[in-house]
Amino acid sequence: MNRIRLLHFNSALGPLDYRVPEGTDVPPGTVVVAPLGPRQIIGIVWEKERLPADEVPDAKLRPIVGRLPVPPLKAELRRLIEWTADYYCAHPAAVARMVLSSGGALKGPATMVEYRLSGIEPERVTPQRAVALDSLQGEQATIRELADVAGVSEGVLRGLVNCGALEPVEVDCDRPFPRAQADFAEPELSAEQQEAADRFAGAVKDGGFAPFLLDGVTGSGKTETYFEAIAQALRNDRQTLVLLPEIALTEAFLRRFEDRFGVPPVTWHSSLKSTERRRAWRAIASGEAQVVVGARSALFLPYARLGLIVVDEAHEISFKQGEGVRYNARDVAVMRARFEKIPVILASATPALESLQMAESGIYEKIDLPNRFGGATLPEIGTIDLTKEPPERGRWLAPALVEELKDRLDKGEQSLLFLNRRGYAPLTLCRHCGYRFQCPNCSAWLVEHRLSRRLSCHHCGHETEIPDACPECGEGDCLVACGPGVERIADEVTELLPEARVAIATSDTLSSPEKAAKFVAEAEEGLIDVIVGTQLVTKGFHFPELTLVGVVDADLGLEGGDLRAAERTYQQIAQVAGRAGRGAKKGEVLLQTRHPEAPVIAALASGDRDAFYESETEARRHAGAPPFGRWAAIIVSSEDEAEAREAARAIGGTRPVLEDVAILGPAPAPLALLRGRYRYRLLINARRSAEVQNVIREWLGALQFPQGVRIGVDIDPYSFV
Ligand code: ADP
Ligand code: ZN
Repeated sequence: MNRIRLLHFNSALGPLDYRVPEGTDVPPGTVVVAPLGPRQIIGIVWEKERLPADEVPDAKLRPIVGRLPVPPLKAELRRLIEWTADYYCAHPAAVARMVLSSGGALKGPATMVEYRLSGIEPERVTPQRAVALDSLQGEQATIRELADVAGVSEGVLRGLVNCGALEPVEVDCDRPFPRAQADFAEPELSAEQQEAADRFAGAVKDGGFAPFLLDGVTGSGKTETYFEAIAQALRNDRQTLVLLPEIALTEAFLRRFEDRFGVPPVTWHSSLKSTERRRAWRAIASGEAQVVVGARSALFLPYARLGLIVVDEAHEISFKQGEGVRYNARDVAVMRARFEKIPVILASATPALESLQMAESGIYEKIDLPNRFGGATLPEIGTIDLTKEPPERGRWLAPALVEELKDRLDKGEQSLLFLNRRGYAPLTLCRHCGYRFQCPNCSAWLVEHRLSRRLSCHHCGHETEIPDACPECGEGDCLVACGPGVERIADEVTELLPEARVAIATSDTLSSPEKAAKFVAEAEEGLIDVIVGTQLVTKGFHFPELTLVGVVDADLGLEGGDLRAAERTYQQIAQVAGRAGRGAKKGEVLLQTRHPEAPVIAALASGDRDAFYESETEARRHAGAPPFGRWAAIIVSSEDEAEAREAARAIGGTRPVLEDVAILGPAPAPLALLRGRYRYRLLINARRSAEVQNVIREWLGALQFPQGVRIGVDIDPYSFV
């Protein structure tokens, strides 16, 4: 009899042993179904010696039900699962769940029925039906997906099926993706690009772990050069994974990929339909998907023949997952490359200090692209001291910036105003009684969105209509907006320059790929004079006529005392500045600030990146912050305030006393209430050499908490709220 051990998703129980009939082959990595009480669970066969469990006598073992029709997870991926769980203090099952992230894919080959318009007109056309007939032109999908597209109920569509207006089509769920061609449209690279591309392609060809930091200014052609590494992987019939921050996964990028390789890549992100998800998953597992472009969750997919990983905009904090398994996709990508023995390219114009440090210590090979492609020059960056040249009362744009906007408008050039705040105003209060609109679920103000006439919480999504009167004192016509958001800046531009065509670019206005594509097309055609946008416009866009970038509040990111505040501000402003002057005309950037002397602002203005990194490095060294020391956070939460406080105290009361580890707190988290849960936090600052994870595991492992308490461990945290 054969005994196997399963890693499975019932997190209340440890690993479980099962029996497999003699002669059945279930090597480690095989995905199986097994009985658990009256139910069935999915599990992954694991090496027994790597997954300790209670010994169950042979006689008590139950047989597995069978194996699922997917290839076994490779040893490299199993090691990655173990490493990720270990490093981030997470359960291996929680990591494995990210691997098996398509329920449909696990069921094996399948066909499905989709529907499309048949051309037959229904006899009775209700308004709902008219909407459906109108919006489903050219669409083919399941009833549920079509209902989403048309914005009507599934019942309406079934009615249309019954009368023949929608016809069924049987499709193979896993129909193959079109093949990318390595030499479809090879670019002519500049000498410095060619050198970088050759280095990458060589590493792909040779195989073996090879981590690169591609450090190139905005517009230097980083994408162009790593495309050549992808071409090499295609030639070797190896798969490539390109990780992008979710917001950079744009139509523009996909189009560019298609221009180079003849077909779009396989994409993986949170808004894939379940049928798209299973198709991508199975193609990835079979090795048929050649290039996968995805958000961070694409990192854990079961690639059959991975040959290269690229992390573009590698400094982006959105690579860090904020809940569940709190992993940083940039770091796990490097580990995956190590297990798979392949090259990994971290590309950025503003690398994280940690990455630069790795390059400096010789662990990453640094490849530089110091010049913009085609002779375009980097923009001139200047500051406007708001304490000396303030905007007029009730306005947010200083006269000098307004002058420049006027000048660009006269010349027919584009401007971009950057403010990382959605909506009209971040706080609304009553002039009469001082009441402030606050979220009932979070310790946060409600943000006014004037375009949609709503007050909304940017943390939990809570929304209400803007009332006519104050809900506290009942006074009418007394609500005032405090501070600016992009909508308010757009209003101000329209007041000052009535002839300017102004567009707001945020996740509210560019909420679908279609809207984003329309915005890009209009900006490219010169139908927009002034773009007012949030961080959504800091990357990816390439508008040749854009010659002025105004940063409305350069100090905004420096508030709050976040560990990486200065670095983040530097990166964000350098990125948005990189939108200016990408074409033939030179760009100019103006930063509105109250602290022109702050090191980060001064470094931006003088274009002295090295100076910034040096001063930041010193500050980090002094504070024992990464990469010189290590941080970790423990977040305790409960819907019951007293329960959360008690649990946090219990943790604090049993803190280990160690020479190389300092533990701060517990204290209420800066966001003390989030989505209806009260939160307390402990911060751990340790020396580089300390085994923080082991310390935390032992410490928390000895404690018991009530059901309603959640304990989150965040290793290398990015968010300090
Ligand atoms: P980065 O990723 O470094 O910001 P990109 O790869 O997006 O730079 O390149 C900036 C712009 O220059 C893009 O529009 C790109 O198509 C163009 N470009 C860069 N290198 C070349 C090249 N060798 N040939 C033609 N166009 C190029
Ligand atoms: Zn909220």
